[in-house]
Amino acid sequence: MKSDRRSLATGVGRTAIAWLTYPSALIGSVWLGGGLLDGGLSPAGTVACVGAAFLVLCFALERVSPETPRWDWSRLELRTDALHALLTNTIPSALFRLLFYSGLVGLADAFDQRLGSSLWPDGAPRLVQLALALLLAEAAAYAIHRGLHRSRLWPLHAVHHSSRRFYFLLAARKHPIQAFVTYGGRLSVLWVVGVPADVIALYTCLAAAASYVQHANLHLRTGVLGWVFATPELHRLHHGREPSAANCNFGDVLIVYDVLFGTRRTPPPAEALHDGLGLPDEIAVDHHYRGHLALPFVWPASAPAADTAGGASSDSS
Ligand SMILES: [Zn+2]
Repeated sequence: MKSDRRSLATGVGRTAIAWLTYPSALIGSVWLGGGLLDGGLSPAGTVACVGAAFLVLCFALERVSPETPRWDWSRLELRTDALHALLTNTIPSALFRLLFYSGLVGLADAFDQRLGSSLWPDGAPRLVQLALALLLAEAAAYAIHRGLHRSRLWPLHAVHHSSRRFYFLLAARKHPIQAFVTYGGRLSVLWVVGVPADVIALYTCLAAAASYVQHANLHLRTGVLGWVFATPELHRLHHGREPSAANCNFGDVLIVYDVLFGTRRTPPPAEALHDGLGLPDEIAVDHHYRGHLALPFVWPASAPAADTAGGASSDSS
């Protein structure tokens, strides 16, 4: 009787984690970020705190409700992805900011002076500004991500796709050149239209939390949210081992651009992609940090192109 009650409680807890984690991450990251900003923390400090909080949360939830025990992380990849979190996710973005921030913000000021008013509706409620910033940044993110899958830049982005498992730190795995391009593209469109720093910080908090949950080894269900957001279920298809199958669901936070351009793809309801993640078998990846840095430059000429199938299949439902 006692064990029945315990298994019922476990089942209820697992169901609650499955359905509540993703929406809670979306709402919680904005709520926590807003609270820290209002409390006087700097935008950079706010982003760091919220990112760290969701990293720890995903780590803890993976211990409680993993999607697949076989996807537990390896020590080598964990060490390498920790370096990605510390180096790849900080140095390229700092470099991009150093090189381009003043020029792009100066351009925004010049627009405003020419118009005689601010291009950006900075008097609107912060959540409205966040929604607008999200739409703008995600348009850039979609275009860049799709471009990374359909061009010679694929070996750079393949570093992120090189994991055979989902786990809490995979979101941090990127080649530094890709990080420079992705960070720069998303933030440039926001800087050039004059989005305030606190709104950019909130967007970055939201994107970081969504990405950590999206790549975690968690048993999650998101239902109709998958028509607006790039949910973990949709993103898992994007990490399919066959490049032709992975040409879908390019959205980072939102899936609306995939819907708009016909690249949203959903699995049949009974299908869960438990295996088949990562890169094709013929591509051997050295999972030391130096191996990830070198991967685009030792990319085998015989490897299948990322856009083998010429785009996503259109079996969206
Ligand atoms: Zn991708």
